Amino acid sequence: MTAPLIDPFARAITYLRVSVTDRCDFRCVYCMAENMTFLPKKELLTLEELDRLCSTFVGLGVQKLRITGGEPLVRRDIMKFFHSMSRHLDSGQLKELTLTTNGSQLERFAKDLYAAGVRRVNVSLDTLDEEKFARVTRWGRLPQVMRGLDAAQAAGLKVKLNAVALKEFNEDELFTLTEFCAERGMDMTWIEVMPMGDLGNEDRIGQYWSLRDLRSELAKQYTLIDLAERTGGPARYVQLQETGQKIGFITPLTHNFCESCNRVRITCTGEIFMCLGQEDVADLRMPLRAHPHDDAPLEAAIRAAIDRKPEGHDFDYSRQKADGQVSRHMSHTGG
Ligand code: SAM
Ligand code: SF4
Repeated sequence: MTAPLIDPFARAITYLRVSVTDRCDFRCVYCMAENMTFLPKKELLTLEELDRLCSTFVGLGVQKLRITGGEPLVRRDIMKFFHSMSRHLDSGQLKELTLTTNGSQLERFAKDLYAAGVRRVNVSLDTLDEEKFARVTRWGRLPQVMRGLDAAQAAGLKVKLNAVALKEFNEDELFTLTEFCAERGMDMTWIEVMPMGDLGNEDRIGQYWSLRDLRSELAKQYTLIDLAERTGGPARYVQLQETGQKIGFITPLTHNFCESCNRVRITCTGEIFMCLGQEDVADLRMPLRAHPHDDAPLEAAIRAAIDRKPEGHDFDYSRQKADGQVSRHMSHTGG
């Protein structure tokens, strides 16, 4: 048996997030500039390379794989990759294959995702107002995403909604979004906006709304029961007594969640980021491409990277400026 991946702080790495493309059919203001220059194709890992890389991680003990981007479902032939990954679900090595999507392509792919063994999806949706949706995503259209949600639920996928908390943008939709999810049997997670991308420039959307304030607001209408549940990630959960739904709060900036971190991220070019909030990165594409028939150098490079996983990150909003701000876009590391 190969030894599992354990970092210097005795945390087992069991969760891999993989960005399969830097491209997207939306241009959310907090994530991308309107005029993005995307990577040339040769920089990207091929689907075969992604398969080999993910499979190596699964062999090293990764049990949960989340596919993200950019928008994962705009990558050509991405369903081939999902179907191929399902063999690790069949073997029992992988416990969950899932994705985070903007929902635009779910109408097309929901059934196929289910057939590939996907059971849960996270759909990002910040507003239920068509005009606001067009403003925040720049290129997105709400009805298309709504049809995607319908298709996902009809296919049997459990949907969780992710919303970025944005002051003066969706503050007024706290209860409408909660009710919308309750009616559809969906859990929901609020994400505190991170200092990335082009925030606050031309669009003036993307102002920080503290989840502590959001939570107090929610408590005015619902009874919040704290859940002990820990996923190893930055989310903390409550259950709403009245509806039974779970509401998560991802607060990377105000809480130190790093002690239980069980994850690493891979970009579509094969870089591995050991921590979302740090610049340290290692290249896995080189060992992958230089040794097409021998996984040992790749495995060694993965272990060397995990040995450098830092204890935590340096974001700090308490001084009203984003100390520890990292310049790369979320679409690069996959959120
Ligand atoms: N395109 C897919 C989507 O939107 O769900 C997957 C990739 S997207 C980068 C992953 C998540 O990151 C989305 O939920 C998005 O809202 C979130 N995100 C992007 N930029 C962010 C930022 N600056 N702060 C907080 N969350 C952000
Ligand atoms: Fe695209 Fe997702 Fe970024 Fe929005 S958050 S621009 S949908 S990658």
